[in-house]
Amino acid sequence: MQLRQHPLPSPTPGTRRELVSLHYGQPGQGQKVYIQASLHADELPGMLTAWHLRRHFDALEAAGRLRGEVILVPMANPIGLSQWWLQSPLGRFEGLSGENFNRHYPEYIGPAAHRAEPQLGDDPARNVAALRAALRTEIEAAPADTELRALRKTLMLLACDADVVLDLHCDAQAMMHLYTETPCWPQCEPLAAYLGAGVTLLAMDSGDNPFDEACSQVWWKWAKHFGDRFPIPQACLSVTVELRGQQDVSHELAAKDAQALVDFLTYRGVIAPEGQVPPVPAAVGDARPLAGSIPIPSPVGGVLTFLREVGETVNAGDVIAHVIDPITASVTELKSPVDGLLFARDTLRLVTAGARVAKIAGREATRTGKLLGAR
Ligand SMILES: [Zn+2]
Repeated sequence: MQLRQHPLPSPTPGTRRELVSLHYGQPGQGQKVYIQASLHADELPGMLTAWHLRRHFDALEAAGRLRGEVILVPMANPIGLSQWWLQSPLGRFEGLSGENFNRHYPEYIGPAAHRAEPQLGDDPARNVAALRAALRTEIEAAPADTELRALRKTLMLLACDADVVLDLHCDAQAMMHLYTETPCWPQCEPLAAYLGAGVTLLAMDSGDNPFDEACSQVWWKWAKHFGDRFPIPQACLSVTVELRGQQDVSHELAAKDAQALVDFLTYRGVIAPEGQVPPVPAAVGDARPLAGSIPIPSPVGGVLTFLREVGETVNAGDVIAHVIDPITASVTELKSPVDGLLFARDTLRLVTAGARVAKIAGREATRTGKLLGAR
């Protein structure tokens, strides 16, 4: 394993941060896998899972069982990790700009297509190699004047030419669930089964370019751009893996999740199996449109108490929670507008008017516009 340090530009004299990446296997031989943890700095299940993965990869590399290249970034957000306010970590938004660390990844689809076009032809594998090289050249040439832009650029350079990108996050309180782009679903389905995901939320261009979509969207957009002139496969499976809730940081869960990821990479052929490839387990959940994942807002402020648990199937009209005003003694019922799966809910029990307190995955795509909340 090779540990590489990527210094970020100093935001003010006297301060400096760096990103660290761990490199296993052989670049250029077999598939490339990129795994990062805790892009939202205070989402810790991924960091612990990365520690378990590191032990796997150390052993697999020593045993000569890695058939490709694996890059592991165990702490993907050194900026967010340094943001605290009165004992509480603030890892979701950058304090300086207010921007979400998992949005606004720049896209170079047009310029990279233009650069690669003279080398494209009938061979899909050669087209993939030419487009990857062109994309890398465009990202390398892009300016990154702030520390945040430099962090995004560094992460994109590590991941942009990978066959598999796994971005390990978590929700507030949640069951295991995944986000991926619709064209990635055939490749993602076995991953969802190995991880035991309760639901996988599918979208194309959900808005504001989160990291996972920045990695995978280039392929289906290039395929659309070139039409039937050149064959362009979906050469990157990119998935946001929501490792349950923020408090789900235990060796038991992290070891189980790391093993599931190793099993999936064995299934993909990145790891040589000892004997049989671990069989794909029966699916726990299914895939549903992100446009059918309904956030439940509270119209009033007050004390929030849930009547339904994460993982429960609910029907339209079911009361999910009460919001209580202790001054007037009024009780506001929060109801599910759809039949669906209550897959995530907030941790705070004091809610402000208009805040979204839970998410229910329905089967019908009913929402339009930007599909990801600020959270
Ligand atoms: Zn996150």
